[in-house]
Amino acid sequence: MSSMCDCGRLQPYERCCGRWHGGAQPTAVEDLMRSRYSAFVRQDAEYLLRTWHPKTRPAAIDWVDDTQWLQLQVSHAEQNEQHGEVHFNAYFREQGVWQCLHERSRFVCADGVWYYLDGVADWQRIKPQRNAPCLCGSGRKGKQCCLR
Ligand SMILES: [Zn+2]
Ligand SMILES: [Zn+2]
Repeated sequence: MSSMCDCGRLQPYERCCGRWHGGAQPTAVEDLMRSRYSAFVRQDAEYLLRTWHPKTRPAAIDWVDDTQWLQLQVSHAEQNEQHGEVHFNAYFREQGVWQCLHERSRFVCADGVWYYLDGVADWQRIKPQRNAPCLCGSGRKGKQCCLR
């Protein structure tokens, strides 16, 4: 993973999602979304719950033990003073099955703090290509990386 943050930005973790995980408040919904993805990668339940709106927040996060998050692609982000929306694809592998989660997440701002509200999501099983760049984002071909 070199010095890239898990969220896919070319920044070290400490200068990217690490700031938000450490307690600073993101003001851009894309930053919040990326930091929540990073929190899933790191299994940081405390952060996920803290940034989840109280109305929709679950009591706990159910971790699936062998989820391997591979890559995040944010395709759209917009926000006004109170509402925000982020569209993204998150690639992951679970029990040997490669999948792509496509979600349109909604965010709300309450008293200056942004929260994840809810999202419309669908999952797709994908078949990784051996000769295409690996979905984990390593820059190598699949057959030289995760598909070895
Ligand atoms: Zn990040
Ligand atoms: Zn790979």
